Amino acid sequence: MSEHQESARATHPVTQPNQVSEPDRREPQSRMGPRGAQVSEAQAREIAEQARETEWALPSFGRQLFLGDFQLSLIHPHPRQEDEAARRGEEFCARLRDFCEASVNSALIEREARIPDEVVTGLADVGAFGMKISTAYGGLGLSNLYYNRALIIAGSASPALAALLSAHQSIGVPQPLALFGTDQQKQHYLPRCARGEISAFLLTEPDVGSDPARLSTTATPSADGSEYVLNGVKLWTTNGVVADLLVVMARVPKGEGGREGEGGREGKSHRGGITAFVVEGSAEGITVEHRNAFMGLRGLENGATRFHEVRVPAASRIGEEGQGLKIALTTLNTGRLSLPASCASAGKLALKIAREWSGERVQWGRPIAEHQAVAKKIAFIAATGYALEAVVELSSQLADDKRRDIRIEAALAKLYCSEMGCAIADELVQIRGGRGYETAASLAARGERGVPAEQLLRDLRINRIFEGSSEIMRLLIAREAVDAHLTAAGEMIKPGLPAAQRARAAAKAGGFYARWLPTLVTGEGQRPQAFSEFGPLAPHLRYAERASRKLARATFYGMARWQGGLERRQGFLGRLVDIGAELFAMSAVCVRAQMDAEDGAAGGRAETGFELAGAFCAQARVRCDELFGQLWKNTDSADTGLARRVMSGRYKWLEYGIIDPSIPGPWVAETVAGPSKHENVHRHIG
Ligand SMILES: Cc1cc2nc3c(=O)[nH]c(=O)nc-3n(C[C@H](O)[C@H](O)[C@H](O)COP(=O)(O)OP(=O)(O)OC[C@H]3O[C@@H](n4cnc5c(N)ncnc54)[C@H](O)[C@@H]3O)c2cc1C
Repeated sequence: MSEHQESARATHPVTQPNQVSEPDRREPQSRMGPRGAQVSEAQAREIAEQARETEWALPSFGRQLFLGDFQLSLIHPHPRQEDEAARRGEEFCARLRDFCEASVNSALIEREARIPDEVVTGLADVGAFGMKISTAYGGLGLSNLYYNRALIIAGSASPALAALLSAHQSIGVPQPLALFGTDQQKQHYLPRCARGEISAFLLTEPDVGSDPARLSTTATPSADGSEYVLNGVKLWTTNGVVADLLVVMARVPKGEGGREGEGGREGKSHRGGITAFVVEGSAEGITVEHRNAFMGLRGLENGATRFHEVRVPAASRIGEEGQGLKIALTTLNTGRLSLPASCASAGKLALKIAREWSGERVQWGRPIAEHQAVAKKIAFIAATGYALEAVVELSSQLADDKRRDIRIEAALAKLYCSEMGCAIADELVQIRGGRGYETAASLAARGERGVPAEQLLRDLRINRIFEGSSEIMRLLIAREAVDAHLTAAGEMIKPGLPAAQRARAAAKAGGFYARWLPTLVTGEGQRPQAFSEFGPLAPHLRYAERASRKLARATFYGMARWQGGLERRQGFLGRLVDIGAELFAMSAVCVRAQMDAEDGAAGGRAETGFELAGAFCAQARVRCDELFGQLWKNTDSADTGLARRVMSGRYKWLEYGIIDPSIPGPWVAETVAGPSKHENVHRHIG
């Protein structure tokens, strides 16, 4: 036995029940019996594809960007708010700020893991639950810009508030009803939502996360079609514990309506599929079985909700049967902007703390801000914080403007802001040193400023996971980025296509590429005077234009090289999307700085916005260049092989010598149909 092995034994002398040692006695019991709908990869893709919006009725900056057509005119001049919208928005934001300053105790929410009821009712009193609801239904009818600005304010007071308000309005009842609801539904539900009845959105199930095709909650229609009966379990429902109204996604079985014994065979026929319903939170048969606790957002009232024989009137169905996922995705087109708003909020707070602390803290004879390693972090936080705000506000104003399709921009905003927001919070913790790791309560208890840096990191982390994980967002955006290619050459890469059809498809693709490829050779980015109205930012926009064409060429090379296999090259596709996100953010900061300068924006923005925009672009270009390099020089294939070998257990020896502290149990709890055996932890506020 080697010295090393001996010392390893000495460190772990006892075989504990949870000890992972050779042989591994705690092989996970893992998978339970069949769960959810059993779905192949092809079926999962098909369902996602069906839910996609395929039409591009309006021009899209993001879409053109990926095609190598850098049409800055689609976002420049930066859209502006109408005076009346701005007046109402400013008025509300001032009211909300006053309320939050006077009534929200962030430390208390963190300590008690709960937003006090009086804060929730207070928010309702100022109108915060109706920000996005039209005035015709008792809401404030705020623009997307001011809605997101309000979330920035609420999120800075406590991130749990922004999560509460955005789950209610961006994905909860108001948004899908505004887009797809009937007049009757709007009249019935929207005034209630505006008054402060809390809503939640229930898609996820224990076996359904990124892959809705596995959805197993059922909505069985009655024979006469007047109602549906819901059965199933929904997981991680934000606001679910306190919700009065729920948007529930459930699968309507295809075929004849009615259950056995209810004259089903004579019933009305149903096209079936995943369908959206508005359901009363207090309906008979609904049990909130558990309030979930998380790494961050401790104030979140997030639950696991069981539906057992819950009767829902057919009049509460949103849209048609089978439209549920499309409704969810369309809702998210603008709904997705609220998470970026929370990230922008965190960016502002991080900058304030980094600036104040780094000037005050002296180590090695200088304020730490003067050590280059720290200075670089401050520069990253400032430049990126500016970019997050620019991305959120540009996307929001484009949404308000309604003259552009913003689905790619909103998705890019969600991906970029959540990733960069986490990077900002991580750097802030580092700048704060040991104090960054200490809780605000502990800091305050020993007489220092209770700065919640570690909380910021914990609270932000979920943004990379929910409302579309970063991995899924990259796939979703990549799907749009390669759409033109699939339309032109999709047939050609279909396996097993007869020769004649393949030849026809090749001719069609050849025609498209013969027209398109030459457009990628030269462009404005090569003209030295291009974008000169942007002054010092012009070189960055020229870079973005060149990079957009390079991105499109890389997409084409990828298509040519891997053809149908491209969809499996997630490393390659992810980098394409990340480059697109950087270019979008660069464009956003440039048009924003330009607008602020033209408008003489207050508080120093007009004069110094250019500096931050320039700094951001310079940093983003370094990241883009790295990403371009990694498109062709990477370890993707090797990593795929390595992961396969890891999964085969080849390197299990590396796991030995530790204790796995996990509490034993299945990886995914089996959902057992039937009435709840748990206490209902649902509570009504107000
Ligand atoms: C705090 C919190 C609040 C939430 N609020 C709500 C809510 O209000 N309503 C609601 O319906 N849901 C909610 N969710 C659920 C959330 O949307 C899901 O967690 C999310 O969609 C990811 O699903 P999952 O956790 O099952 O991960 P999985 O789908 O199991 O994914 C696990 C990992 O695999 C990756 N992955 C999965 N599929 C692919 C693929 N095809 N290619 C590449 N990578 C892949 C994922 O990105 C992830 O990294 C919430 C979750 C949390 C934790």
